[in-house]
Amino acid sequence: MILILPAFAQDEMARAKRINAEAIGIDSHMDTIQRVFYGHVDLSKRSSDGHSDFPRLREGGMHAPFFALWVPTYYGGAEAVRKTLDLRDTMQMVLDQFKDQIELATTAADIERIVKSGKISIFLTIEGGHQIDDDLAVLRMYYRMGIRSMTLSHFQNNNWADSSTDKPVHNGLTDFGKNVVREMNRLGMLVDVSHVSDKTFYDAIAVSSKPVILSHSSCRAISDVPRNVTDDMIRALGKNGGVMGINFGEGFISPKDAEALRKTIASNNAAPVLTGKALDDYAAKDYQKELGGHYKAQATIEDVVAHIDHVVKIAGIDHVGIGSDFDGITGPPQGLEDVSKMPALTAALLKHGYSEGDIKKILGGNYLRVIRAVTGK
Ligand SMILES: [Zn+2]
Repeated sequence: MILILPAFAQDEMARAKRINAEAIGIDSHMDTIQRVFYGHVDLSKRSSDGHSDFPRLREGGMHAPFFALWVPTYYGGAEAVRKTLDLRDTMQMVLDQFKDQIELATTAADIERIVKSGKISIFLTIEGGHQIDDDLAVLRMYYRMGIRSMTLSHFQNNNWADSSTDKPVHNGLTDFGKNVVREMNRLGMLVDVSHVSDKTFYDAIAVSSKPVILSHSSCRAISDVPRNVTDDMIRALGKNGGVMGINFGEGFISPKDAEALRKTIASNNAAPVLTGKALDDYAAKDYQKELGGHYKAQATIEDVVAHIDHVVKIAGIDHVGIGSDFDGITGPPQGLEDVSKMPALTAALLKHGYSEGDIKKILGGNYLRVIRAVTGK
């Protein structure tokens, strides 16, 4: 029997690779563009650093990632808008330079067409409601620049939404915050409730006329950190028709690593009062400090499967997806060190009894449904 096992494992991996090659491959949160902005990385070349580039996305079968234009919350007011434009500009340069390999998608139909053509589809998001500087006109301009999703808050509260990792001051969403959600519904932007406080989550679900997403969160029942969500929230997300992308960050998925995550969150509160170039210089140093290190996670691929199982048990197979947070985490789980390793997750899911159809829902089918419902095509 022992002699047969390696051959069987090989067959399973070959099957997993085929499934990933055929899947739409949506990952709802990657911080890869920051590596281009700060490190001038050439994404067309396979790198041994970071977690994602075009060759590794193709190898992992993740053909349609969401790229987050993330701005730290210490960028206040108009500075946050300027920084968002800087990142959008970097993204555009990458889109222009590699037209033959990647294309911007703004609808589910776009994603299907681009992936079918053999290119990588990029779906743009902004991470933090502070990036609109309390101005719906700014939100609308982001929409016109092809941005189709916004995380309502980041690690700190903003002027209209409480964060899960800050002291509540608004009791969830303010009236203006509710109008932001309504305007996102009207425009056809995904309302992303990762990072927000539990009350903000429920307020957003109550106001939104469309399914919402948790772009990169995991289950609090397994790893008890505020960035994760409770079983009741997962149930509410299922009723809303939304989808939750499991975050691969070590502390998000394994209680063994949760203490390190709590420390990172606690150290995130320093807010320098800087503007312009001084602020950008501070941010560049902060970026190197936060993501320059490599944390050896105790979490493994089996922990990721446990979170997927948990969401399936509570909300059903139609409400779970992948939101790795690759290039935004320092210690990915053992066995999922970068996006090229995604077939190993598929192989693990096969071993746990998931059907090919179910796995394809997890690998993007569920997200495609929600994007279609929100963008209208
Ligand atoms: Zn995040």
